[in-house]
Amino acid sequence: MTDPELSPAAPGRAELSPAAPGRAELSPAAPGRAELSPAAPGRAELSPAAPGRGTEPALAPVIVRALVARGSGAELRVERVRLPAPGPGEVRVTIRAAGVCHSDLSMVNGTLAARFPLVLGHEATGVVAEVGPGSELTVGTPVVLNWAPACRACWWCRRGEPWLCADTTAPTVPRGETDDGVPLHLTLGLGALAEAVVVPERAVIPIPAGLPPEQAALLGCAVLTGVGAVRNTARVAPGESVAVVGLGGVGLAVLSAARRAGATTILAIDVAEAKRDLALAAGATDFLLSDDRLSKEVRARTESRGVDHAFECVGRAATIRAAWRLTRRGGAVTVVGMGAKDDMVSLGALDIFHSARTLRSSVYGSSDPDREVPVLAAELADGALDLRVLVSGTVPLDEAPAAFDRLARGEGARWVITLD
Ligand SMILES: [Zn+2]
Ligand SMILES: [Zn+2]
Repeated sequence: MTDPELSPAAPGRAELSPAAPGRAELSPAAPGRAELSPAAPGRAELSPAAPGRGTEPALAPVIVRALVARGSGAELRVERVRLPAPGPGEVRVTIRAAGVCHSDLSMVNGTLAARFPLVLGHEATGVVAEVGPGSELTVGTPVVLNWAPACRACWWCRRGEPWLCADTTAPTVPRGETDDGVPLHLTLGLGALAEAVVVPERAVIPIPAGLPPEQAALLGCAVLTGVGAVRNTARVAPGESVAVVGLGGVGLAVLSAARRAGATTILAIDVAEAKRDLALAAGATDFLLSDDRLSKEVRARTESRGVDHAFECVGRAATIRAAWRLTRRGGAVTVVGMGAKDDMVSLGALDIFHSARTLRSSVYGSSDPDREVPVLAAELADGALDLRVLVSGTVPLDEAPAAFDRLARGEGARWVITLD
């Protein structure tokens, strides 16, 4: 996720993602695609089968069901939406599983500036169903979606920091339209809580076939973010001590990555006692409630120093300050949670100097998804990475609104929408 003020919509990206108004009538239904792209009701007579254009069937818009927010705070509903046909360098991906992430909630509860109507979702896996002209991907390839595809040309990309790409996707990107003809927006350019998405091919990452979809979906946000924060941003070393504040999907991914990095004291911290068993299963050595005894409990487990690394996985000033106080002199605080722009963090000037702590953020795990998602997918395939503990349950798309309610109440780890 990115700050909208710092990440303007990519200039020059428009021609790659036309909203395609009025294209429907002009695009004949492709033969043999009935299940995935039903012709609009009553429009069949107007859409003859593709006339002979060599062996290339004409690409047509598709109508799919998607989870849509019509406004900030509005009730979420599964609606039919019209996606444009994939243009040059674009692909359509049939979604198999999509996680419900806290950033989606931030889109609808006003924490982030979003445009509506908005298709939610940015953490998903699926299969390439159709490729636009010039795409090198093959239909049938299993993929994970990437919500921050790098341009590979800007100053940051060229210096090897693609997660800071200047061409970063805006929080909401216009594409397609609702069934009643209103221009639609997609969360982080994906809108993955849907039966299908149409995205630039650089936003998809091929993975091996046969991975459990409800686990593979998490590679695209929670797991890449959590693992990357530990490996790439903080570079946790064997024997170090770690505290993780906030035990949602990302926090639990951080815990398990810290365990795999060889940290020996791994303190899981949350306001909800209900997270205790999940935290211990994910790799924590201790679960601590975030109450007024927290500092004392942490110091009791770190020879009175505080931890080497604290990870803030909530995105609030209060928890960033809490993470700061739990960290030893010379230690590091890594902010993984994405907060609101008016939530100000206050630290004492003398404290900053005397504590010699480092405060930094981890954007998308300081990772290159094109390189690191395939590594994580291979680990998932060979059993080195087991994400079952992160998946609290799978539900059909129709139950996605209820999954958002559970997320808002802080229940479970990750709720994953599965589609067949
Ligand atoms: Zn996310
Ligand atoms: Zn770039």
